[in-house]
Amino acid sequence: MQALAELNPQQRQAATHEGSAGPLLVIAGAGSGKTLTLASRLAWLVQQGADPQRVLLLTFSRRAAAEMARRAGRLLHQTLGLPSNTAPPVLPWCGTFHSVGARLLREEATHVGLNPNFTVLDRADTQDLMGLTRQQLGLGESGRRFPMAPTCLAIYSRCVNTRQTLPEVLAHSYPWCETHEHGLARLFAAFVEAKLQQQSLDFDDLLLAWWHLMNTPACASRLVGRFDHVLVDEVQDINRLQADILHALRPQGQGLTAVGDDAQSIYAFRGADVQHILAFPQRFTPPATVVALEQNYRSTPQILQASNAVLALAAEGFSKRLWSDRAAGLQPQLQTVVDDAAQAHGVADTVLAQRETGLLLRRQAVLFRTSSHSATLELELVRRGVPFVKFGGLKFMKASHIKDVLAVLRWADNPQAEMAAQRSARLVPGIGPAALRKLLAHGPDLASYQAPAPARESWAALCTLMQQLRSPATRWPDDLKQVLQWYQPHLERLHDDARVRSADLQQLLHMAGAHRNRQRFVTELTLDPPQASSDEAGPPMRDEDYLVLSTIHSAKGQEWNAVHILNVVDGCMPADMATGRAAEIEEERRLLYVAMTRARDALTLWTPQRFYVTQQRALGGQHLYALRSRFIPDTLLPHFDVQCSAGEGCDKHGPDPAPAATTLMDLQAAMRGTFGTR
Ligand code: ATP
Ligand code: MG
Repeated sequence: MQALAELNPQQRQAATHEGSAGPLLVIAGAGSGKTLTLASRLAWLVQQGADPQRVLLLTFSRRAAAEMARRAGRLLHQTLGLPSNTAPPVLPWCGTFHSVGARLLREEATHVGLNPNFTVLDRADTQDLMGLTRQQLGLGESGRRFPMAPTCLAIYSRCVNTRQTLPEVLAHSYPWCETHEHGLARLFAAFVEAKLQQQSLDFDDLLLAWWHLMNTPACASRLVGRFDHVLVDEVQDINRLQADILHALRPQGQGLTAVGDDAQSIYAFRGADVQHILAFPQRFTPPATVVALEQNYRSTPQILQASNAVLALAAEGFSKRLWSDRAAGLQPQLQTVVDDAAQAHGVADTVLAQRETGLLLRRQAVLFRTSSHSATLELELVRRGVPFVKFGGLKFMKASHIKDVLAVLRWADNPQAEMAAQRSARLVPGIGPAALRKLLAHGPDLASYQAPAPARESWAALCTLMQQLRSPATRWPDDLKQVLQWYQPHLERLHDDARVRSADLQQLLHMAGAHRNRQRFVTELTLDPPQASSDEAGPPMRDEDYLVLSTIHSAKGQEWNAVHILNVVDGCMPADMATGRAAEIEEERRLLYVAMTRARDALTLWTPQRFYVTQQRALGGQHLYALRSRFIPDTLLPHFDVQCSAGEGCDKHGPDPAPAATTLMDLQAAMRGTFGTR
């Protein structure tokens, strides 16, 4: 196969591994071609006669899955000599664990006592429901401080994803909540009841229910039988439940290929554990074949050396050392600037200068630990007219107008979806809390519900809409058009910036066409949402040039020619919330490693000396003096081209090896001196 000619011998061995030879694990460092190898394997399998309908491809995002199909398509075209305008292979079964789980579950729902029209709750709705249940049980009123809804949800989620009991999770991860074990157990039981009653599942339930299907013999044999090959990318980030599902799908490991990098594990906070990738080979008899890849094709040797050096300081040793035979490039830059604003200026200047040399904006990216870190930069980019798209902010799905429209669609599919019903009904002027309670108690026959007099006309319009949406005669996406027509006057009544929001809704309609039906659309959007909303950057046209802004988590698996990393300072990287435990600090170190290894030719780490924080209770101030991240101690400086435009203090770095107390005192002194706070 000509496409395989590009691959090195180890990559080729993995791509053409015979299915009958048992499961395969490719474990290798960043940029070593794991994803390329997986795409090549897909192409090779199809060329050998595998049916793309019977290939399950589990990737980290819908975007990654589409990219994989595109790459495999290109390889197949090359191999089979197809004209380049023929479509890539259609892979109906590719997506994230959650989205594939949701689809399988709809097919099998009736066998496990679930309505196939169940609703998938997004994170915000799930949290609201947890809060509501907590309130209904009066847990907040016991006189002792009961954990807030987000904490309760995090505990619940950890129990589900790590398959640990509540006492175990409390002891290991939430010792300060241990005294509330009894209350939490009551809360979780009621929370589960509420979801079942509303035929609504949250993200964690999708995996749990999939696992349950795999333990229901009749369902399990259907699910095992429907796929010949299961390919998994980024397997280092699976949690216990996902690992168990995989194992149940391929009990003997037949046709199973997984690729990943233990040094890039960054989802422990969601229950992921690198142990699953390390234990992977031994879960099968005979054990999985393991292929290691050692050549990095992505980055210049300078970028690779600096990244390797950061990782080498990790507490646990990662044995892989990557090498690159790319031509020498520039050293990565370590840029110290005065503050956040100077950082934004510096990044914008550099990005534009690079563009002048011919590097498209699209080949450049700015990465950051937390979505809010890019706020100043976003303003600067808008000011200079630099188009950008931001990933990882979830702004689109949080926008209230998008949530309104999705609620109506969810309610149409599942009359028992209480959260959706409430949100939809609240849009009708004149329906207040009392009317809402009556409505929820009323039952599914909407037309017979007596709305309060001032609401009657608008209520009738909503009833007519629901009737149309639930009629078997509706066609997707015409029904979305009906919803938007109905919603328009409400949008104008509720929002001053209705015009901007209308553009988002048009974008929603545009996306709708790409999905087979209403349910698939709403579920996919909930699980893997688009992340840019037109009020900030405008949806980029397909071939328009734009800069990528992304959280590091959302940047995994990707690469750009030039990469900027913002706020490489203690408090941001590692994040201050993580400074407690060694394991959390190590995960933050791996995050920096992931960020640095996204760069092909140019890498700049920015360290503003002062930045704005919204929460710093201990110090009571709002500006903080920052020190270079402890992940880049002085010993690593030779790997960088160190630049400083901040005057004094350019050589400061985080508290390791300097004792933490000194830092805190410096910080307080600096704050008192400069701002007179406290
Ligand atoms: P990550 O760990 O970041 O997900 P990865 O191991 O999946 O990285 P890929 O994204 O598959 O790596 O590949 C990184 C880059 O190296 C891509 O641009 C890819 O095209 C290129 N590459 C991989 N293998 C080869 C090869 N044998 N010859 C030339 N280029 C290659
Ligand atoms: Mg990859």
